[in-house]
Amino acid sequence: MNKPLVLVVEDDVAVRNLISTTLETHDYRFHTAPTGQAAILEAVSYNPDVVLLDLGLPDIDGIDIIRRIRSWSQMPIIVISARSEDTDKIDALDAGADDYLTKPFSVEELLARLRVTFRRLNYSASATGSEKVVYTNGELKIDYAAGCVFMGDAELHLTPIEYKLLCLLAKNTGKVLTHTFITREIWGSAWENNVASLRVFMATLRKKIESNTTTQKYIQTHVGVGYRMLRV
Ligand code: CA
Repeated sequence: MNKPLVLVVEDDVAVRNLISTTLETHDYRFHTAPTGQAAILEAVSYNPDVVLLDLGLPDIDGIDIIRRIRSWSQMPIIVISARSEDTDKIDALDAGADDYLTKPFSVEELLARLRVTFRRLNYSASATGSEKVVYTNGELKIDYAAGCVFMGDAELHLTPIEYKLLCLLAKNTGKVLTHTFITREIWGSAWENNVASLRVFMATLRKKIESNTTTQKYIQTHVGVGYRMLRV
């Protein structure tokens, strides 16, 4: 199997070197781009397996780069942001980014995000061709045809909204979904940003799915950002 190719888009030399060295020692291939223009050129020319994208670049805004790449490719994009404001991350995720890292980040964090992204990639590759009728993730099973959900052998009784929420998260396993994205998908644009309601439904859904309510085995909360279904 070919080593995965990572495109590192970062104008800060020190951070770029840290990422490159990490990738090199963990058996990834990589290309680097110090500007937005170079990033787009690299993305088009080499079709990388994943893009690590710094949002603050000298020439083009990171969000714009995500939109441009998304106009022709679904390649995974992990955003790296020095800005601590949640709005930047949220804008990036809504523009089509898959995940995010906040600076300063550890090498372990970076590697963990890459692993999540590649697991997700492998899963969607195996799922393409025939639309899966049954979703399985650890003990969790969704039978789409019957509209039933199981945890192990036990059937879970979900409300229609909980079921829709669960299916949306399952369909995007491994990807962080923002509050806005979820509320728009579940209730439509009139209810966009009704985070309080979403939180209530998510809490009841979680009570039914997580055997231990203090751990987040299946549904991970990203405070101020959204939720992610983890691959167990
Ligand atoms: Ca920067």
